[in-house]
Amino acid sequence: MSQLNGQPTALTEETAFRVPQNSVYSERPSIASFAPARSKVPDRQPIALISDHGDPAAEIGKEEAGGQNVYVRQIGEALAKLGWQVDMFTRKTNPSDPSIVQHSPYCRTIRLAAGPIEFIPRDRVFQYMPEFVAAFQKFQSKEGTNYPLVHSNYWLSAWVGLQLKKMNNIQLVHTYHSLGAVKYQSVASVPSIAQTRLLVEKQILESAECVVATSPQERETLQELVSQQGRIEVIPCGTNTENFRSIPKAQARAKLGFSPSDKIVLYVGRFDPRKGIDTLVRAFAACKTRSEGNLKLIIAGGSDQERSDYQERQRIEQLVRELNIAEQTLFPGLLSHEVLPFYYTAADVCVVPSHYEPFGLVAIEAMACGTPVVASNVGGLKFTVIPEETGLLVPPQNVTAFAEGVDRILSDELWARKLRKQASARVSQNFSWTGAAIQLSDLYRRLLAQSIMDERLWNLSRSRA
Ligand code: UDP
Repeated sequence: MSQLNGQPTALTEETAFRVPQNSVYSERPSIASFAPARSKVPDRQPIALISDHGDPAAEIGKEEAGGQNVYVRQIGEALAKLGWQVDMFTRKTNPSDPSIVQHSPYCRTIRLAAGPIEFIPRDRVFQYMPEFVAAFQKFQSKEGTNYPLVHSNYWLSAWVGLQLKKMNNIQLVHTYHSLGAVKYQSVASVPSIAQTRLLVEKQILESAECVVATSPQERETLQELVSQQGRIEVIPCGTNTENFRSIPKAQARAKLGFSPSDKIVLYVGRFDPRKGIDTLVRAFAACKTRSEGNLKLIIAGGSDQERSDYQERQRIEQLVRELNIAEQTLFPGLLSHEVLPFYYTAADVCVVPSHYEPFGLVAIEAMACGTPVVASNVGGLKFTVIPEETGLLVPPQNVTAFAEGVDRILSDELWARKLRKQASARVSQNFSWTGAAIQLSDLYRRLLAQSIMDERLWNLSRSRA
């Protein structure tokens, strides 16, 4: 194993990109050998999606499980419907979890052992990535498969993808989901892994065949803060509009036990300081509409146990008590995608107060359900939320602006009704997982075709030399 399997100390460019030793697979297969070797599914082109810390088969909303898990799972399933054999690789975090979860005939999650089989916060998992690479290679040779295309997600998987690229002849595609260069701007203390992360995030942009930005804003940020080099294509995320749909408000409220006269402000997401839940809580306490007496705040997501996100939840609960809004605030905990449409529809406004958001699935889920959104004027939220049409955009961490935005929507029912209609129309016309998968599928095909062309040209020039 490489020395990266030791402590996650700040690494140099040389050590950060060292291939783990004792790799079970050291030869670069020719692109011509990508003819399907799998005995089970010989008719399909296998591709690998890698999502080290975001298990596509995990329960969403728990600990660090959020948008990335949803993205990989939804994209994986949609790509399988388009004709690919999709294998989604993640790190195994629970011994009782099956190693392979078959989602559909051509789409599965494969959990690889890398480091202790337990939950490890993402900032501490890098040291096990060489083991992940070795386990991936072992899986490939055991199955007799070569994945000619690998799509990595988040910087940890980017590192894995970069190692695989050194060992195998692959086309590498990457989606960031979160960017160290942005994240570290707004945190008081930077984790020890920061330097390595920034290095990997630059390297993947410059070396991958293509980076997928989920919004034009993310592309700008990458070019501005990470590197001017590299190929970026914008392919926005989607949502499942069959699930996230408008349900009659009265029906949703009756199901959840809310009264028709309640005014409901909703937050959905992980408990993470970057999500800015404290801004929302302070804004809610400052809302003028609160004097009417029937205003409620629902803060959904997070685990109830003493896990990594619980600290942030406790901080938020403490703030709620300090601001004397405990009686009006509900913490329903983790909500499934089956029940979430009822919460979105029951709400009058959904607030996304993130400090930064590369895309922000919650905003489009809420809009798909016909709920106006008040969001921070950052990242992908600037792309998905159209101010004055589907909701409002306000400066991040600005308590007064959030309070005013919520008050405006709550106190003008006629306008709110218009926002609701426009919000669901915007999502159904622009954001579907099938649409995102079609664009990705097209990108993969172009990259694979190009690599075959390149190899032929190279062989030709060699035979002439
Ligand atoms: N989510 C969920 N249940 C919860 C909280 C969140 O299913 O209790 C889901 C939410 O519906 C969305 C994802 O987690 O699909 C969060 O994605 P987003 O892009 O908004 O944030 P991220 O987690 O990527 O920071």
